[in-house]
Amino acid sequence: MFESLKNLKTYEAGKPIELVVREYGIKPNEIIKLASNENPYGPSPKVIEEVKNNAHLMHRYPDDSFYELKNKLADEFSVDVKNIIIGAGSDQIIEFAVRGINPKKVLMAGITFAMYEIYSNQVGAKILKTSSKTHNLDEFYQIYKKEKPEIIFLCVPNNPLGECLDAKDVFEFIKKIDEDTLILIDGAYQEFAKFKDNNKEIKPKDILRYKNVLYTGTFSKAYGLGGMRVGYGIANEYIISNLHKLRPPFNITILSQIAASKALEDKEWVKKGIKSNFEEMQKYIEFAKKKGFEYIESYTNFIVLFIPNSTKIANELLKRGIIVRDMASYGFEALRITIGKPEENDKLLKTLEEIS
Ligand SMILES: *Cc1c(COP(=O)(O)O)cnc(C)c1O
Repeated sequence: MFESLKNLKTYEAGKPIELVVREYGIKPNEIIKLASNENPYGPSPKVIEEVKNNAHLMHRYPDDSFYELKNKLADEFSVDVKNIIIGAGSDQIIEFAVRGINPKKVLMAGITFAMYEIYSNQVGAKILKTSSKTHNLDEFYQIYKKEKPEIIFLCVPNNPLGECLDAKDVFEFIKKIDEDTLILIDGAYQEFAKFKDNNKEIKPKDILRYKNVLYTGTFSKAYGLGGMRVGYGIANEYIISNLHKLRPPFNITILSQIAASKALEDKEWVKKGIKSNFEEMQKYIEFAKKKGFEYIESYTNFIVLFIPNSTKIANELLKRGIIVRDMASYGFEALRITIGKPEENDKLLKTLEEIS
């Protein structure tokens, strides 16, 4: 039984708050969690209000056509509802794409979002990675020509490193790839990237003309709804109708749907969070410069700082109730730190100052 799963690994999510509470006896409200790229401010208060007001609906199955949410997304991105599929997180859209294509080979950056590899392994695909850790499209193209992978993953901007390709380079790349290779553009942090630099903005409507491009987005990051599990895929109708064949019925909850629809209405809230994100990120950059630590310029809500003995530092932080992501498993000494609220960043930086 389960022979085919023998070589698969289980995904290890960032350490949950509960674990630190149990292991170190720190009170939940004293823990600072800056490890999973969540929005520290949470969703708009209007979203919380809307969910509360609709809590009595939870005995009902949701509208499986996701009519309201899809219409709002269609408006948001100037696409048709037929170009949209809703997923339990954009993770699920990535999963549908991989299962639907059932690739023999997939291609991705040297260090990128772990789920690409995990879903591809589940279908037995060979994983090809560029030797460059960040996205290098020349190298992507060299490997593509030689190996003809059926899926190419582009994470724009990239998690966990934070770098971001220019949109014009992405589109030039798309034009060079044959239509029998799917290009999945993961836009989980696009809201942050386009705020910082509009050369990074990939407009989903611009990918519709390509038969082989799928854009994914999420409510988990800028919209602050990680716990509600809502993501979406945007592509031409052919791709979307095929992905729908793999979608389980009612794949997001009725309250998730209500929350995501409402979240799209409060743009000011999202913008405020993103603005604070980049202002606060500056504190980490100044810290790195002062200490002589290298860092990667980030277009996201996290930053990678190259800090010697990162594993030890991450553990010391954990004992003090601060959770960050150690990058040692990727082969280098660095921490990936999600940008938090001002007081959280100040406390983390003060602690880092003491122990690094
Ligand atoms: C967070 C993240 C996602 C998806 O998150 P969901 O919560 O499943 O929507 C997808 N891609 C990247 C690169 C991410 O960092």
